[in-house]
Amino acid sequence: MSIELPEAKILAEQMNEELRNKRVKCCHLEDYERLQRIGMLDKDMESFGQLVHGKIESVTSRGNVIRVKLNNGMNLVLAPEYGGKLFYHTNKKTVPKKFHLKVDFNDDTVLTVGLASMGLIHALRDNDLNRSYVYRRDFNSDVASPIDEEFTFKHFSGLLADNNRMLKSVLVGKDAVVVGLSNSAFQDIVYRAKLHPKRKASELNKGESQALYDAIKLVLEERIRLKGKDQFCDLYGNQGGYTPTMGPNMKQQSCLICGTPVEKLSIGGGQVYFCPKCQV
Ligand SMILES: [Zn+2]
Repeated sequence: MSIELPEAKILAEQMNEELRNKRVKCCHLEDYERLQRIGMLDKDMESFGQLVHGKIESVTSRGNVIRVKLNNGMNLVLAPEYGGKLFYHTNKKTVPKKFHLKVDFNDDTVLTVGLASMGLIHALRDNDLNRSYVYRRDFNSDVASPIDEEFTFKHFSGLLADNNRMLKSVLVGKDAVVVGLSNSAFQDIVYRAKLHPKRKASELNKGESQALYDAIKLVLEERIRLKGKDQFCDLYGNQGGYTPTMGPNMKQQSCLICGTPVEKLSIGGGQVYFCPKCQV
């Protein structure tokens, strides 16, 4: 389960509500050597110590990334992208046995962060935020966030027209024209837009570009409204209510619109499920 824009936004809003004005009493990292080896956690462990005594000013998100800003010039940057778990505990008995980062606050409440296959945990000073690749990619970039007001159809169709790459790399990954989408949302979006996942952006006609834009907005807004994807758990452990219309959950199933067996393609380092009849 990937945490994309909707889930990062849900978590950041809940964290902002619960954690703002709390002071960090201590930080504890566990089982982190593997994360350090593959670059998912700072090598400099002292930076986590600098979070201690800081008071949380705000928690915000952009794209898939969450920024916890403290009043002592420090930040906790979290990108729980592939299966991360962030939980808030008012009772220490609910703290899970396994986590990577545990933050204790002065009122005895606790935040735990656990990463799954991929993701990042960074403790960074304000001046060093740009050292974080995910911060640069999602927060500090000119790339549009598809839930911002500036992300209009006119803006989006201009980005597509100049782009002769396949839709996957236009919407997902380091060269994407929007932040916050990964393979999961991509499959859902191109199915709803009735576009074959290997189509090239510049070859879409106006109606197809509009369908793609509408599908991006619809998928993100529905996922936010229904409190995340169905495999996602929010800060309180509540499961999300959004089931993707296309994706691994449709493996060996038939298209809900036309009944054709769903097929799968390998595109851009991931499996993409699609309907060969509806998506052209
Ligand atoms: Zn179909």
